[in-house]
Amino acid sequence: MKIKDLFEQKEVVFSMEIFPPKFDVPVETIYKTLDGLKGLEPDYISVTYGAGGKSKDRTVEIAKKIKYEYGIESMAHLTCISHSKDEVKKLITDLKGAGIENVLALRGDIPEDPDFQFPTPLHYEHAYQLVQELKKDGSFSIGAACYPECHPDCVNLKTDIKNLKAKVDSGVDFLVSQLFFDNEEFFEFMEKLDIAGIDIPVEAGIMPVLNKNQILRMCKLSGCKVPKKLQRMLDRFGDDPQSLREAGEAYATEQIIDLVTGGVRGIHLYSMNKPDVSKRIWDNIQSIRRFTK
Ligand SMILES: Cc1cc2nc3c(=O)[nH]c(=O)nc-3n(C[C@H](O)[C@H](O)[C@H](O)COP(=O)(O)OP(=O)(O)OC[C@H]3O[C@@H](n4cnc5c(N)ncnc54)[C@H](O)[C@@H]3O)c2cc1C
Repeated sequence: MKIKDLFEQKEVVFSMEIFPPKFDVPVETIYKTLDGLKGLEPDYISVTYGAGGKSKDRTVEIAKKIKYEYGIESMAHLTCISHSKDEVKKLITDLKGAGIENVLALRGDIPEDPDFQFPTPLHYEHAYQLVQELKKDGSFSIGAACYPECHPDCVNLKTDIKNLKAKVDSGVDFLVSQLFFDNEEFFEFMEKLDIAGIDIPVEAGIMPVLNKNQILRMCKLSGCKVPKKLQRMLDRFGDDPQSLREAGEAYATEQIIDLVTGGVRGIHLYSMNKPDVSKRIWDNIQSIRRFTK
């Protein structure tokens, strides 16, 4: 099923994200994760794409398994900055061949390696160009990323939203947000999208806090603010993994309840391949998920 149709049918879409195992780890390890997520009945599961790494080929394989063996709708992420036009065309053919109907069209991060060889000519400088390519093909429901607290490469949120509008107008059906920990930032962002004329569904990206240093690193990289409430939690429980996990799950639950109360169209849980964590959060919102079907 196309995710754009899912949004037509459901008041709130609840999805999850996983990442493929590293190339030197057997691909089967992901099936343990999927076995755990299956019972949670997410509306779809998305699979990230490691642009330069050897594990990139696994995205299509895993997305196909999710759809056809686990019976859960799937979405494959695809990045374009480091690919030539021919490579992207081949990837699109592979996705179609695997029966994948949903793609999250991304630029990908600019590789930090100063010796990285970008394709020449550089066909895909921004995600909207990949959106155009996928739209031309016509086989997919197309998602794209958005950044409630501004993409770190962009000068300001106003410009970022202007660029987002152009991306959406290229043929995006729905957006999935970067992680954030202050819901007010997200609600204000939604108001700005409304003013900019962006009216497609937006899923809120929620990441449970499980590790102090990892979360601080991610916030630094993505430009996401650490609210005082979260900082207090990290200071108090940061050195005790069990307590932090418990507090992190409660924080994510509270964020989700507030977002759904505030009318968000979707929740995208970064599962981090930890089905037990996802399960406890999903259990906390069981009735809310039923109520918003
Ligand atoms: C939900 C989600 C999932 C992700 N999954 C993956 C993944 O699987 N693999 C991975 O490698 N990365 C992933 N990323 C990270 C993503 O690739 C990076 O954040 C990347 O830096 C930007 O990608 P984008 O698609 O948002 O790019 P774009 O939409 O191209 O935006 C990138 C920057 O360019 C600017 N820009 C856009 N269009 C224009 C224009 N026309 N002119 C001038 N400037 C412009 C934007 O304002 C922004 O600053 C994900 C991010 C999110 C939020």
